[in-house]
Amino acid sequence: MPLSFKDIGHGNSKLGKLVVHTTRSGEAHHMGTCPSSCPLLGEHNKEHATDKFDEDYAAALARAVPLFGKAWSYTHWMPVHWRKSGFNMLGRTTMNFSANNWEQAQYVFKNLKVPVVVNLSEEPPKGDVPAMWCPADTMEDMDCSRCGGSKGPICARPDRSFIIMFKQKKWKKTPCYAANGYVKFNWIRTMKNKMKQSDGKILLKWVSRLRHGTMLRHHVAGDMGQIKGE
Ligand code: SF4
Repeated sequence: MPLSFKDIGHGNSKLGKLVVHTTRSGEAHHMGTCPSSCPLLGEHNKEHATDKFDEDYAAALARAVPLFGKAWSYTHWMPVHWRKSGFNMLGRTTMNFSANNWEQAQYVFKNLKVPVVVNLSEEPPKGDVPAMWCPADTMEDMDCSRCGGSKGPICARPDRSFIIMFKQKKWKKTPCYAANGYVKFNWIRTMKNKMKQSDGKILLKWVSRLRHGTMLRHHVAGDMGQIKGE
């Protein structure tokens, strides 16, 4: 399955220049690793997504943390698929569940005890779960590499006691931010990187060569699905 890597110096504006990142795509379509249940795909893309979770990739992803560094990502796969893959422990990748709406965000946070983020267009009603807006959405000159001060990016903290909210942007056709602009361009280009080894093996090899203390955002675009036919 195709995977691409961006080292320091290629940071996008949200991540900041110090955060390295990967992109993961399917072979026949860039959205081929996304769960078909994701509402951000748009109806016209559902057929390109997958219903099969890639357990091998998830297990490697959980361990793919740079030495003395931090790694995090987001997923639209329900936690039942990945709660036992090894994420969200000391020295492992922090996996955030990306909820479909405010109600689901609160439910998953309270009952499934995993880090949760949610895209919202406005301030939600006060609930019993604390929440904060992503500082990069509300402050000038803020990005993931500066977020959270000395403790590092807030999204990379598995034990946080609040939900993170992102300002929902309005795109013309496909609601997913990654299916628009430069991220989409790179996502489509990633389809050409056909690998001889599994994504997990390639990923772990790449991570082992990163500088000590590197901050890594896993798949800026793409998810933990296994593409159809594999
Ligand atoms: S909360 Fe911090 S780490 Fe998470 S996306 Fe926003 S700036 Fe990046």
